[in-house]
Amino acid sequence: MRLSTALLLCLGVLAIAVFAAAPPAAQSRTSLDIYMIDVEGGNSALFVSPSGESLLIDTGNAGAAVRDAGRILAAIKDAGLQQIDHLITTHWHGDHFGGMAELASHITIREFIDHGPNVQPGAAADEFLQKIYPPLYAKAKHTVAKAGDRIPMAGLDVRVVSSAGETIKTPLPGAGKPNPYCANFKPGENNAEDPQSVGTHVTFGKFRAIHLGDLTKNKEFDLMCPNNRIGTVDVLLGLHHGQPSSNSEAFVHAIRPRVAIMNNGVRKGGDPEVMKTVHSSPGLADLWQLHFSLLSGQEYTVPGMFIANTTDEPQPTMPIAPAPAQQPGPGAAPPPTHNGTAYWIKVSARQDGSYTVTNARNGFNKTYTPANR
Ligand SMILES: [Zn+2]
Ligand SMILES: [Zn+2]
Repeated sequence: MRLSTALLLCLGVLAIAVFAAAPPAAQSRTSLDIYMIDVEGGNSALFVSPSGESLLIDTGNAGAAVRDAGRILAAIKDAGLQQIDHLITTHWHGDHFGGMAELASHITIREFIDHGPNVQPGAAADEFLQKIYPPLYAKAKHTVAKAGDRIPMAGLDVRVVSSAGETIKTPLPGAGKPNPYCANFKPGENNAEDPQSVGTHVTFGKFRAIHLGDLTKNKEFDLMCPNNRIGTVDVLLGLHHGQPSSNSEAFVHAIRPRVAIMNNGVRKGGDPEVMKTVHSSPGLADLWQLHFSLLSGQEYTVPGMFIANTTDEPQPTMPIAPAPAQQPGPGAAPPPTHNGTAYWIKVSARQDGSYTVTNARNGFNKTYTPANR
């Protein structure tokens, strides 16, 4: 009797020890967490499923690879991850793959997903794809995504809705109704690589989010017209930095996001045209921005509590008028810098379709109830 009690006690202590040694994230996580990371008008978005499986979309800016990889690693650490299970590089622009090699030198990436070779020649992308990228995926898995593909992640339905200039032809479950916003569509202008973007739709229980990389207006039209193949979403992520070569009403208004989170920079995106489209989007509750944008001015910006980042030397006041967008080139004045501490915007979504958005700079958060759809 005494022996068996002692044995039971021993086993009990052992069980507690084993439980305590297991990673806490795997034991206690019940939400889908999405980190929108500030990479200064580039893109990096980290999805962490309740099982602890992870999907990273893009790796920040070339030219600031150490800074941006550091910011991504901070989010990875906050999420308690030991590896990245899937990395989607939406397209071959430096603000989307720039921090990849640096990031891969710090953490294991198990799968590299892209749309195939670059279609827009450029010295940096050409060299990266010839010399740097193949050794990175040689020891992992390499997947060229096609529209309609599923990315297997336990507990989530992750669907590729655009890739290599193609969009899904079959509507997502529950979608496919005629899109009234197609009637007023005006084609946009774009470079060659943005329309190649890998676009991703994520379903977790009743919660839905979409991130189209830098997919442009003309491809939004292909995806959304004449029938809306996406349906409605809770959260629209990215918005091509808030730039007007994307973000048609045929896309933004038709998917009726309750929340939009814009990956803009200090002076990249947040242009008046986009802000008008987003602010007038039916059913929108809030726009959250990764940065104050000079291109918005007080006229178009959201309240500061919805904005995650300022600059290294914040201006005491923001001008009322939006600043005109600058054409890049040798004569362009550089934007105010932000190389110091950066803050993410985090979404924690639950199976029932409710979700909480948190601004890491000021701790401000807001919980949204499940959508009726
Ligand atoms: Zn910043
Ligand atoms: Zn971009």
